[in-house]
Amino acid sequence: PEYSKDDIRQMAKDENVKFLRLMFTDLFGTIKNVEVPISQLGKLLENKLMFDGSSIDGFVRIEESDMYLYPDLSTWMIFPWSTERGKIARVICEVYTTDGKPFAGDPRNNLIRVLNDMRKAGFTDFNIGPEPEFFLFKMDENGKPTTELNDKGSYFDMAPMDLGENCRREIVLTMEEMGFDVEASHHEVAPGQHEIDFKYADALTAADNIQTFKLVVKTIARKYGLYATFMPKPLAGINGSGMHLNMSLFHGQGNAFFDKDGGDMQLSEDAYHFLGGLLKHARSFTAICNPIVNSYKRLVPGYEAPVYVAWSGSNRSPLIRVPNSRGLSTRLELRSVDPAANPYLAIAAVLEAGLDGLRNKLAPQEAVDRNIYRMDAEERQENHITNLPDTLHNALKDLAADDIMRGAMGEHLFQSFIEAKNLEYNSYRTQVSQWERDQYLELY
Ligand code: GLN
Ligand code: MG
Ligand code: MG
Ligand code: MG
Repeated sequence: PEYSKDDIRQMAKDENVKFLRLMFTDLFGTIKNVEVPISQLGKLLENKLMFDGSSIDGFVRIEESDMYLYPDLSTWMIFPWSTERGKIARVICEVYTTDGKPFAGDPRNNLIRVLNDMRKAGFTDFNIGPEPEFFLFKMDENGKPTTELNDKGSYFDMAPMDLGENCRREIVLTMEEMGFDVEASHHEVAPGQHEIDFKYADALTAADNIQTFKLVVKTIARKYGLYATFMPKPLAGINGSGMHLNMSLFHGQGNAFFDKDGGDMQLSEDAYHFLGGLLKHARSFTAICNPIVNSYKRLVPGYEAPVYVAWSGSNRSPLIRVPNSRGLSTRLELRSVDPAANPYLAIAAVLEAGLDGLRNKLAPQEAVDRNIYRMDAEERQENHITNLPDTLHNALKDLAADDIMRGAMGEHLFQSFIEAKNLEYNSYRTQVSQWERDQYLELY
């Protein structure tokens, strides 16, 4: 909602708000909070609230550490779980430098920049409907997560109510209290795994919503003695957690992807070009959409996660699918993204990939309506189907070589991301795992 400064002052007073939680997201997609007492509200509303940016990963060096938080008033929200001592309100902020410029290392500012480019290209909105999946694990007596699942349920299961079902229901109710439109909530394929889909929103709101959603899920799960994780593949041998992104582009006349005379598929030229861009840059945006070592344990055959770069109008195995709805709901569903992704960066990356397709009228390869997992390497080659990168290391190589992705992140974020992620990969690479000892210790 559009709130004025006076609206905010009034709501804070009426609702007895005692603390302000100023939220922004770092390079790695982690939510950062600066919590200040309500006495700081005046300062905040005047864009005069300062914090030390040097303590935030991937932000700045010590010598330029002062940063300002400019509140986006439309994101003001009072947490439903506030205490009797007074309520806690949150507001999402943009990070600004001391000379009054949007800080280039803030992923949210970056998405705002890419959305402005989209408007210059003649579009009004980029809508995103996310499908985040997560696991609920039991906690031990110290409040630490275990890898013990709390149920044996499965997809759309109607099994007797358990802790997981009750917890998911409370998450949905809390989200609704916070103004979310929840469209679906169900048990996923793996035991202990859940999915909650909320209504599509414009790109910036959708990214904000994803961040808030993760916070709500983790907070409510704790109340039930459960630990919620968005780690992409917490357990080997069962499905991992994805975060499919449904996307559509709008212009003055409505959904730019829909054309009722656009052949059997009723897709517009714009839709095909956007799709062409997504497919062209799919390997290079993988590092952004699947940003951790563990992401690549999910992108393997056999667990409903994509492995190959292909699209389809009907079947679900490819990277990109065109769900059945048309008209205003015409959309493309990208199935590689996982919930470890920084949503601001992931959305900026896929939008820029699509815009590149539009600018250069890129044509997508032929749709593949067969099960790709039953094709051999030769058949895949005949159908121009390539593989997604199989490790973070290889994904980073593809990312580093793609100038369109460099543009999607801006120089500051692009450099810091690649540098930080290479360090992360190297730290992983030098570990010796239990699997290796089990395999080799006695054999050699
Ligand atoms: N969990 C699957 C994944 O990793 C998706 C399952 C589904 O939603 N059909 O992407
Ligand atoms: Mg789904
Ligand atoms: Mg799902
Ligand atoms: Mg889906």
